[in-house]
Amino acid sequence: MNHLRLIFLGPPGAGKGTQAKRLADWLGVPHISTGEILRGAIADQTPLGQKAQAYMDNGDLVPDELLADLVRDRLAAPDARDGWILDGYPRTLNQAHYLENLVADIGQRVDYIINLDVPDETVVERLLKRGRKDDTEATIRHRLDVYREQTAPLLGYYRDSDRFHSFNGNRDSDLVTESLKAAVT
Ligand code: AMP
Repeated sequence: MNHLRLIFLGPPGAGKGTQAKRLADWLGVPHISTGEILRGAIADQTPLGQKAQAYMDNGDLVPDELLADLVRDRLAAPDARDGWILDGYPRTLNQAHYLENLVADIGQRVDYIINLDVPDETVVERLLKRGRKDDTEATIRHRLDVYREQTAPLLGYYRDSDRFHSFNGNRDSDLVTESLKAAVT
């Protein structure tokens, strides 16, 4: 049960990371989180990490061009040949267009666009509990604004596709996982 390529959409705190990881393990494909890659780059103080840090600390998106090569190389890597789950990318319409061209270029296609839907108050509550460095209440509210302005338009972009599936993420996480597994089989 592999050769599937999925992207995950939804506000911060929707459970994308948890669900994407579970589904990736279950499908036997790599889980590719741009946020995790960026946090790793910051921890290692690479040039990418140094450029990305201030944006991330403020709850802003890093500029599209910082991620373009990284995503291209990661999706073209040998372990991603038979499928992947992208978690946290694309986050702008520009990234969505880039991804569309990229997968076509490397002879792939996106099979499922998964959206996790959760209300704002759940997001704030969950993220405050998580306590990551960029999870203060002010930054969380800002990340929600950024999501609404820059990422939510992607829903309109993908909604009419028969590959688009939206799920209620405001449920017990095991139930969400079961719904996702049912949808991709
Ligand atoms: P995440 O772990 O997905 O919540 O991402 C954490 C932070 O990394 C975000 O708030 C952004 O600053 C940055 N980031 C992750 N993915 C992207 C992306 N696709 N485009 C721009 N910034 C991103």
